[in-house]
Amino acid sequence: MDGFVFKGIPSRVIFGTGTLSAVAEEVDRLGGKAALVLSTSHQTDDAARLVSDLGDCCVGQFSEAAMHTPVAVTEKALEVARTLGADCLVSLGGGSTVGLGKAISIRTGLPHLAVPTTYAGSEMTDILGETRDGEKTTRRDPGIRPATVIYDVALTLGLPTDMTVTSALNAAAHAIEALYASDGNPVISQMAGAGLAALFEGVPRVVADPADAAGRREVLYGAWLCSTVLGQAEMGLHHKLCHVLGGSFDLPHAQTHAILLPHTAGFNAPAARAQIAPATALFGEDLGGGLWDFAKAAGAPLALSDLGFTEKDLPRAAEIATRNKYSNPRAFDAGDIVTLLRPAVNGTRPQAI
Ligand code: NAD
Repeated sequence: MDGFVFKGIPSRVIFGTGTLSAVAEEVDRLGGKAALVLSTSHQTDDAARLVSDLGDCCVGQFSEAAMHTPVAVTEKALEVARTLGADCLVSLGGGSTVGLGKAISIRTGLPHLAVPTTYAGSEMTDILGETRDGEKTTRRDPGIRPATVIYDVALTLGLPTDMTVTSALNAAAHAIEALYASDGNPVISQMAGAGLAALFEGVPRVVADPADAAGRREVLYGAWLCSTVLGQAEMGLHHKLCHVLGGSFDLPHAQTHAILLPHTAGFNAPAARAQIAPATALFGEDLGGGLWDFAKAAGAPLALSDLGFTEKDLPRAAEIATRNKYSNPRAFDAGDIVTLLRPAVNGTRPQAI
């Protein structure tokens, strides 16, 4: 084994069922006396219940979080936080809400407690993507990472099955790219492998019975591991392509990850055979094909064309994706990107490239 650097996991993590009841105590631990609860408009009622449960240590809620963290929304939330005298942030929701918590926290220094309700995995990372005038920029800073993360399986029981599947595949993508990351290490690989195993076990159970609490627990546990490795390792071609398709073609985050993963993993697999062993042990030696079969069986979307991305968009996507150099186990050019994406556009099983 070569040498490696392990950066450590700075967040405090509470995992279980019914753990939402620990928010007040954890706000207090962060020194908070006046928490502001954040959510999307879709989760307004959940946020209102939390505000009520928190009682005196909460000053109110802001329920306008939106996908890709628009700066205009952050500025509005900052004004609300100032007016209410908030000294702590509690984000309750998926990656969009956690993103808003990060955006306010890095601007104000307010401590941030995240309660994720999807498997997108923003909560364990020091990454913040923000949109201004339609342009998405991403930055890293240790101050962006939430101080405390509370995972409550009960909050995921109502996550619709289609979102469960796409969000879980979004999580799986973090683990697969962490396995072959240039700055990976044995601890991260162990976590990535365990994360994939938990998703592999849990997703079919939840698809068969969305109320299967043990299955939900597996998926959320897997999502925690996948989020952790996302925060620790540099992502490659898969995340870059999803960023391009989300940022320049306005495709939805989780669905895009879910559709692309079999194709990007299949493309990279020949260049990272040893590193991806924990993934091939679950999905088979033909990693792309195995992931595609798994996604199809779970009812995941398979075709980018269903999201409005067509073959005529391929050259532009390939051009944008190859503008900058970034770490990936297999070299590629614009032609490779077009070849790799074509079956993803049409929803066909990936073939060896
Ligand atoms: P999302 O947060 O936009 O959630 C999608 C919808 O589902 C929202 O309306 C939300 O309110 C609703 N929802 C969430 N949990 C629910 C539940 N348990 N039951 C019912 N409805 C629920 O989508 P997402 O996929 O979680 O996050 C995507 C965003 O997160 C993107 O902007 C992406 O860039 C960002 N992200 C950032 C990082 C990072 O490290 N910075 C990592 C992953 C994702």
